[in-house]
Amino acid sequence: MSAVNLARSGEEEATAGMASLLARQREAFLHAGAPDTRARKGGLRRLRAAILAHRNALNEAVSADFGHRSHYETEIMEIVVTVQAIDYLLRNTKRFMKPERRHVAISYKAGRAHVEYQPRGVVGVMAPWNYPFSLTMIPLATALAAGNRVMLKPSELTPRTSHVIREMLAGAFAPEEVAVVLGGPEVGAAFSGLAFDHLLFTGSTKVGRLVMKAASDNLVPLTLELGGKSPAIVGRGEVTPRTVKSIVFGKLANAGQTCIAPDYLLLHHDDLEAFVALFDATVGDAYPDGPTGKDYSSIVSDGHYDRLQDLIEGARKNGARIVEAGKNPGSAASRTRTIAPTLVIGAPDDSAIMEEEIFGPLLPVRTYSSIDEVIDFVNARPRPLALYYFGPEGADRAALLARTTSGNVGINNTLLHIAQDDLPFGGVGPSGMGAYHGIEGFRAMSHAKGVFVQGRWNFANLLRAPFGNLTDFAVRWVLGRARET
Ligand code: NAD
Repeated sequence: MSAVNLARSGEEEATAGMASLLARQREAFLHAGAPDTRARKGGLRRLRAAILAHRNALNEAVSADFGHRSHYETEIMEIVVTVQAIDYLLRNTKRFMKPERRHVAISYKAGRAHVEYQPRGVVGVMAPWNYPFSLTMIPLATALAAGNRVMLKPSELTPRTSHVIREMLAGAFAPEEVAVVLGGPEVGAAFSGLAFDHLLFTGSTKVGRLVMKAASDNLVPLTLELGGKSPAIVGRGEVTPRTVKSIVFGKLANAGQTCIAPDYLLLHHDDLEAFVALFDATVGDAYPDGPTGKDYSSIVSDGHYDRLQDLIEGARKNGARIVEAGKNPGSAASRTRTIAPTLVIGAPDDSAIMEEEIFGPLLPVRTYSSIDEVIDFVNARPRPLALYYFGPEGADRAALLARTTSGNVGINNTLLHIAQDDLPFGGVGPSGMGAYHGIEGFRAMSHAKGVFVQGRWNFANLLRAPFGNLTDFAVRWVLGRARET
């Protein structure tokens, strides 16, 4: 057999293995039926305990995968947010599961209508590398709260973390409940073609398109959590220490490898130099040991490192002013795949850094003269995953919020909306489709089944054959009421 055929048969085997895993989970789901509140909470508690037991192993695996990842970043942005989300689901699952009484029109009175939230069955979860743990675990916890079985496909770019996830879940769940599939793009392509009852994909817009195509073969309902360029807008005169601290936090956490990091900054032109000075000082305070300090993370792969260097060089060639910020930025070169916090000022609107998602510690700054210019700039581009505004309540802020559309909005902060367990989290258009977290996540992974229960006597009886005088009366009565309302 040739090498190509061998590779193909390996792929086919992997696909067949995934398909049989799905069949096994579906059979178990159909056999056991929808789990009650107790069983769902039991699953969430097992997950919580397993996470706490693997905390150190996870921390080490994530850091090894990145080259270097701040221990605190992993604790806060992988483990704390996940445990917090699980605790929120433990407190709210019973309430989310309650059937909802619905309105019944006068013509159907005596009947009752309600919605039942039923588990969809088997949910597929595909995850990226940038927060390889929380972006796998929060969808998993949501799917379990909604009563589903789950197959997970973590990223191949963080292999050590993916292995810890697999071991951790194998110790806490039977494969019919939760199973982990490992592999790269080929496995991802096969995974996204499986006939799941729901598929949640987190990753790039480019791969999101492929996933949507693959899912369409089986009409699998999708939640797409994608990427894009999220703007941060600083109101005129609002370059304050509080504003800049928040931008530094959002841009440099995980060295900018955050889907909702402020991608670029829109700043009033009068405020530019004040911002540059304050950004430099604030980065210095936040990372006193410079980019090789323990709290500053590395770039995940050589490919991403080279891509970011190309963005800086491309902007430089296009006439942008490049400012490396904070303490001893030049030391970045001495640590593997580390890039110093860098401002890129005045890059042309059609340069790569202003058009592509950055996903690194580079912050392009563009100046504006009026809020209308800002609104037009944002609206001329794909709808972002997040939009940040710094400034007090007022006409500018109200106009910006009313006239732009983004997945979520942060006011006077960056990133923190993702940690609000009761807010839907998701994008819009090219930055995503659907949302999870909060009741929206539970509902995305549940089927809202409308049920109408006919009463013994029903006004609607008058609206069916044999038609006659009573039908005329009923039609006149209903339409007459409609006229009055
Ligand atoms: P990616 O799209 O390259 O990969 C995501 C997943 O898809 C991985 O598991 C990967 O193995 C799989 N995959 C790769 N090629 C595939 C293919 N051809 N068919 C099917 N699956 C395939 O994304 P990434 O580089 O891992 O993550 C970075 C991107 O994710 C950024 O664009 C970022 O904005 C986005 N992101 C979005 C969110 C969000 O919540 N909206 C969160 C984190 C990251």
